[in-house]
Amino acid sequence: MLTTIFFKATFYTMFINLLMPLILMYDVIIIGSGPAGLTAAIYASRAGLKTLVLEGNQPGGQLMLTSDVENFPGYPAGIHGPKMMEDLSIQAKRFGGQIETAEMIGVDFSKRPFAIKTADKEYSGRTVIIATGASAKWLGLESEKRLQGRGVSGCATCDAPLFKGKTVAVVGGGDSALEEALQLTKFAAKVYILHRRDAFRASKIMQDRVLSHEKIEVVWNSAVEEILGESLVSGIRLKDMKTGKEKTLAVEGMFIAIGHEPNTSLFSGKIELDKKGYAVLHPLMNNGIPVYTTMTSVPGVFAAGDVHDTLYRQAVTAAGFGCMAALDAEKWLEETYG
Ligand SMILES: Cc1cc2nc3c(=O)[nH]c(=O)nc-3n(C[C@H](O)[C@H](O)[C@H](O)COP(=O)(O)OP(=O)(O)OC[C@H]3O[C@@H](n4cnc5c(N)ncnc54)[C@H](O)[C@@H]3O)c2cc1C
Repeated sequence: MLTTIFFKATFYTMFINLLMPLILMYDVIIIGSGPAGLTAAIYASRAGLKTLVLEGNQPGGQLMLTSDVENFPGYPAGIHGPKMMEDLSIQAKRFGGQIETAEMIGVDFSKRPFAIKTADKEYSGRTVIIATGASAKWLGLESEKRLQGRGVSGCATCDAPLFKGKTVAVVGGGDSALEEALQLTKFAAKVYILHRRDAFRASKIMQDRVLSHEKIEVVWNSAVEEILGESLVSGIRLKDMKTGKEKTLAVEGMFIAIGHEPNTSLFSGKIELDKKGYAVLHPLMNNGIPVYTTMTSVPGVFAAGDVHDTLYRQAVTAAGFGCMAALDAEKWLEETYG
């Protein structure tokens, strides 16, 4: 009796060990479920590739933090960010894409197929698309979190038109902060730039543009202590870094532009990253001419969206890169596995 149980258990374990890698084997594993990851999933699954998306701790990505998206083509009246991401997810599942609510905690790109680990499983992927996005850096104030999407924004390109005729503030002193401020002048009546120091880090040309702009006023040596307002932003409390004195400014919008951080810490040493941690893409050479692709330094591993994009950082560009990554993965699979 005991022997029978032992043999049955051993057979079952062997069966599971043999079968599981096959069950958990995918043509494409997509890490991330923002516009880049889900668009890659639509293309890959529609091409008949066995596709898995690991959603991570922010299913739907950054657009889950916003209310209206007014610049994604196809929605003339705009669309609620979370609704758009829900639609993308439904579209990805329509063609058989599998979406798991799990976070990748480690990868092994040294073996083929690649291994992707979550807390309780190890998946095998013939190709991998990294679409883990980037996170805007925030000041870390409770009021900033509470008023996000209610006057606090991390993206002027996205939200500037919502502040027509209003007074707004931008926090930061680098090129992107100054660019955001200039972008805002097209809509807002007045733009404050709040900077902790008495000089900008930004390039000279950007500084000249900002300092000569009639709508912009720079508030030097100032740290944001609190964003004021109950349901909408109504002002900010600032502290003068030199005198310690506090003052308030009445504003209806507050743009945080203190930088972005790509979500690539788990890929450090596994693929090439630039000095800021963004994934580096490698063009292919075609008759001596470099052709843009989404391939990383590891053949078969692709990157799409804000995780490599230091320039555009838009939902539509992330979706475009997701499409490219899926097509690149499909081509690579054909060439490598036939
Ligand atoms: C407040 C706000 C408003 C915005 N408004 C607009 C707008 O109106 N129009 C516009 O075009 N753009 C807008 N943007 C920018 C836009 O959201 C981004 O450009 C876009 O979301 C980038 O898409 P992505 O797929 O590359 O990454 P993200 O959207 O950042 O998604 C990254 C995904 O990776 C996942 N992930 C991360 N780490 C792991 C891991 N270890 N394992 C598994 N998954 C992981 C996350 O869970 C997430 O699902 C806005 C951004 C913000 C913050």
